[in-house]
Amino acid sequence: MRRVVIVGPPGAGKGTQAATFSGKLGVPHISTGELFRQHVDEDTELGHQVKGYLVAGLLVPDELTNELVRGRLSEPDTAHGFLLDGFPRNVDQADLLKKILAETDAALDAVIELRVDEDILVDRLLARGRADDTEDVIRNRQRVYRSETTPLLDYYDDMLVSVNGVGEVDEVTDRVLAGLCDRK
Ligand code: AMP
Repeated sequence: MRRVVIVGPPGAGKGTQAATFSGKLGVPHISTGELFRQHVDEDTELGHQVKGYLVAGLLVPDELTNELVRGRLSEPDTAHGFLLDGFPRNVDQADLLKKILAETDAALDAVIELRVDEDILVDRLLARGRADDTEDVIRNRQRVYRSETTPLLDYYDDMLVSVNGVGEVDEVTDRVLAGLCDRK
């Protein structure tokens, strides 16, 4: 298990679980949302281009996202694996990821899905209080997840490890570990 993607609606705890699993698997944790937020904070050209999308809770256009991911996945620390958090977010991005990996004869090993009810998510996100966590933006991001990202669950059907994301962080981690072991 070295090339892993984690998907789930905003607020499902992807970032927390991704950080844990990147440590356990010994691979870098790559969060596209985090990379975009860094660009915004550092006022880079890309930061200027993407800020409006982040603020509105909309997906950044694929050309910009794909370039960011291609660049990150060409860095040497990813040669032996990665844990991707927040990418892919739609089927076109998943196709691109497949293509990038095929260029080095690699492929994904598993896709982890965290399942959490929308009402719980909205409460969690309002409590988190990040700049893009106002109620309207949160609802927008949930809608975008449902329409754009959930088709990935079928796309990755043969490698999907789907777990209930409600509970203590450690409980959820154990469920994911059990699911990954079952797949081996
Ligand atoms: P996240 O931290 O994963 O919730 O992402 C925060 C924001 O970054 C999202 O609401 C999008 O605006 C943008 N973003 C992150 N990942 C992607 C992606 N794969 N494709 C398009 N936009 C993204």
